[in-house]
Amino acid sequence: MERAAAALDGEVRLLLATREQRYTGQRREIVHALAGLGRPATIAELLAATRDLPQSTAYRNLAVLADADVVRRVSGPDGFARFELSEALSGDHHHHVVCESCGLVIDAATSPRLEAALAETARLIAEANGFEVTEHRLELVGRCRRCRAAAC
Ligand SMILES: [Zn+2]
Ligand SMILES: [Zn+2]
Repeated sequence: MERAAAALDGEVRLLLATREQRYTGQRREIVHALAGLGRPATIAELLAATRDLPQSTAYRNLAVLADADVVRRVSGPDGFARFELSEALSGDHHHHVVCESCGLVIDAATSPRLEAALAETARLIAEANGFEVTEHRLELVGRCRRCRAAAC
């Protein structure tokens, strides 16, 4: 097994153990499919990316993985939930760009400069509302490259 995959499995096993859950074969399939896709995936995309994952158990397994903070639920523009590996697990803070036309959701890389600007903006908005910011999530909504080309 690859070193990265083994490290990922080790971390997932620990997170699941905090919820007294086991890292079953099906959960492992979900985690590796999400790692391989590299963007938030709907249940349908997840089922297509795995071999023998029954839809009925996929929902339950995703709920357990989300509860253990292995997986994070991301909302899409079409009412279908998307799932991605949690930032705690991937160690990768990023934002999302969402296509309101076809529903594609992809990860957008961030930079120290952008994060500093976002942190300051978030602080100001929070302060005006009596809040303290513990994390931020940024989602840009628009049209993807393919949908833009199709509209021409
Ligand atoms: Zn699109
Ligand atoms: Zn950020």
